[in-house]
Amino acid sequence: MPVGTLGSVKGVSQDVLEDLGVQILLGNTYHLYLRPGVDVVRRMGGLHGFMAWERAILTDSGGFQVFSLNELRKVSEEGVTFRSHLDGSSHFLSPEGAMEAQIGLGADIAMAFDECTEYPAEATRARASMEMTLRWAARSKKYFDEHKNEVPWKSSQVLALSSQEKRDRKRLQPSAVSRQEKQVLRSAQDDNSEKGLDGQTQALFGIVQGGMDRELRRESALRTVEIGFPGYAIGGLSVGEPRELTREIVESTLEHLPKDTPRYLMGVGTPEEIALYARMGVDMMDCVLPTRAARHGLLFTSEGRVSIKQARYAEDRGPLDPACSCGVCRRYSRAYLRHLYSANELLAQVLNTVHNLHFYLSTMRSVRESMRSAL
Ligand SMILES: [Zn+2]
Repeated sequence: MPVGTLGSVKGVSQDVLEDLGVQILLGNTYHLYLRPGVDVVRRMGGLHGFMAWERAILTDSGGFQVFSLNELRKVSEEGVTFRSHLDGSSHFLSPEGAMEAQIGLGADIAMAFDECTEYPAEATRARASMEMTLRWAARSKKYFDEHKNEVPWKSSQVLALSSQEKRDRKRLQPSAVSRQEKQVLRSAQDDNSEKGLDGQTQALFGIVQGGMDRELRRESALRTVEIGFPGYAIGGLSVGEPRELTREIVESTLEHLPKDTPRYLMGVGTPEEIALYARMGVDMMDCVLPTRAARHGLLFTSEGRVSIKQARYAEDRGPLDPACSCGVCRRYSRAYLRHLYSANELLAQVLNTVHNLHFYLSTMRSVRESMRSAL
């Protein structure tokens, strides 16, 4: 899942994301809660309507970002008091508040509010944190079940339809427009009645914590499954621990999560890591790495990492990655990309991001294909 922190994957528009084959992206509740605010997004038809994105979206609970504020937060059983990184204003986020926000944002998948245990943590601290995450998971689920019908999906479908209509209008001859429009409208109405759109709700996923302790992870997994969710995430990793430890904890946690529900590893990783974890049984991952690295001129290629700012590329006529089929590699030279980056052109960020996203998505496509052919 590419990360679209503020309802935008930085540097690339939604139509480019569609062309790249992005099936689902992630929005950050903390950032959207502060700006533009959940109420605005809800009134605009939820995140789908607001950002004109018809494909799937997942929102995090806001917890991870609030916990990364360090100096600006205070945790209690009830929830977390924190100060906005934007203007220092004081806010309070609880399991109930995080659910209310995520229902308002209306992503397809919402995440339970958890406490991301810091690394390193003492055994007693890791257990206390895990126990609180379990209590918060139960509170998240309770609030979600009571309020899930408030998701603003009906209006988002109307917006999605009108954007579809606009595209069709551009594409078609005038005589065909009205017939096509009628078909679009009719199929949308059918969808509504057949699938009972009004009755559909988001999916709430639980999150496993437990620090770097295998036994705590096992207990957290079993007890989270006992609460019961349609999908499970492994949280609290990639927080500064050695990569080998991340791998061990993921492996031992996966054993205790049902294979027939989605298993989501949060905040991971490099192209090598996402391939490794997918083969281990992880179904979903998100990471800012491809997009953030792109904006810093770090590109992932089949031949390894390329730091495009290096002088050695100044007159390099070759494509960024000869094995890549993305539009950037098919069209531009390394020399041009290096120039754009050195001159601080906006297009550098756009093109670099397009390539890195394509590289990540094609990494996952080839993992899926090799897993399918191994069956
Ligand atoms: Zn490329």
